[in-house]
Amino acid sequence: MVDKKRRQIMNLMGAGAAAVPLSAVVGTLPSHADDLPMVDPASPAAAALQYAEQSPDPATNCGNCTLYQGAEGEAQGPCPLFPGVAVGAEAWCSAYVPKA
Ligand code: SF4
Repeated sequence: MVDKKRRQIMNLMGAGAAAVPLSAVVGTLPSHADDLPMVDPASPAAAALQYAEQSPDPATNCGNCTLYQGAEGEAQGPCPLFPGVAVGAEAWCSAYVPKA
């Protein structure tokens, strides 16, 4: 199950890397996560990953996902699957992988 999720994430990251050069993403990143606009749940990327602003299961959310890059205790933070925007710590998407 976790291996399948990892494969899905790697595929998504590979597709993202092909579509957006890394230098373009890094050059547009704000210096603080608070500066990032929130992901639009209606955007095609969010819809493709079934992003929900509030996780249906409080035990599984962005705040305890391996890919979440927000600081502990922050309400939002970056996720590499949504470059240039922040995801909510209480949110969730179908690429969720629990932290080890
Ligand atoms: S659950 Fe999805 S949106 Fe949230 S941090 Fe993990 S991969 Fe990113």
